[in-house]
Amino acid sequence: MVEFIWPWNTFHMVLALLYWFFVIPEVETLKTLSWGWGLYLFIANATGIFVLYGGIELFYYVQRKQGRRFKYNAKFPSDHPSSVFWFKSQNFDNFLRSFFFGIPVWTLVEVFMLWCFANGYHVFGWIDWQNNWLWLVVLTLFVPAIHEIHFFCIHWLIHRPFLYKHVHSVHHNSMNPSPWSSLSMHPVEHLLFFGEVIWHLLIPSNPIVMLFNMHVVGYGAVNGHIGFEKLEVTEKTAVNSHAYAHYLHHKYFEVNYGADGLVPLDKWFGLWHDGTKEADERMKARFRLKKQKLNS
Ligand SMILES: [Zn+2]
Ligand SMILES: [Zn+2]
Repeated sequence: MVEFIWPWNTFHMVLALLYWFFVIPEVETLKTLSWGWGLYLFIANATGIFVLYGGIELFYYVQRKQGRRFKYNAKFPSDHPSSVFWFKSQNFDNFLRSFFFGIPVWTLVEVFMLWCFANGYHVFGWIDWQNNWLWLVVLTLFVPAIHEIHFFCIHWLIHRPFLYKHVHSVHHNSMNPSPWSSLSMHPVEHLLFFGEVIWHLLIPSNPIVMLFNMHVVGYGAVNGHIGFEKLEVTEKTAVNSHAYAHYLHHKYFEVNYGADGLVPLDKWFGLWHDGTKEADERMKARFRLKKQKLNS
């Protein structure tokens, strides 16, 4: 329970509030689409991502301040150039894809959502905190579950052969993911990924809850790609990364389609891998069966 709230979801909520009170323009401005506030939101998102992802990259991958302690894969991507990446560099490739495609798509979806809220293009309208606080608190608590279910579904979908080949393989070029891999995707995947917040136009919601959801998706994408089980912050404190399930997804592909296992969809569908020998055997048996079916 503590892990559910602290530190990651608290971080996403605090950031959503900071956005709402200090970054997002006045409602009157949001009513009209314009490049001005769109570009301004792009800069805000890009700066936020640069600081969060870049900070983790700097401390744990460039300065390597905790060496290989708690690292899943002993290799650091920058030590191993590969021709699957632009300029043979995982970092450079992933960074460019995030800033030229990922954050623009994120911002477009965000602009669209805020414009819809401001104009009342919403099934239930914009509901306020004073009169609906209990529902909005409950909805906020459900956001990580919404994310888990939405991500599982779109992720399973883009693993179907055609979409995998043309869309999702871009993300999987990083078999040993690092922070910049988080938003390194094909733009179609970005759209499906950030499109998750569209749910907030269909259920009674509020822009702050929508922003929180947006941040769970955008800033939260880093969790699966940290590459370390724990990040040592001081000598005595370490933060759990929640990266292992998704790290194994990058390693084995057809396991762990969910983000964090909060809603155990992978377990229910027999796709869960927790790194144990038993899980490995189960996965291999599943792959053998698939191969037999393909050959018969
Ligand atoms: Zn990934
Ligand atoms: Zn995948």
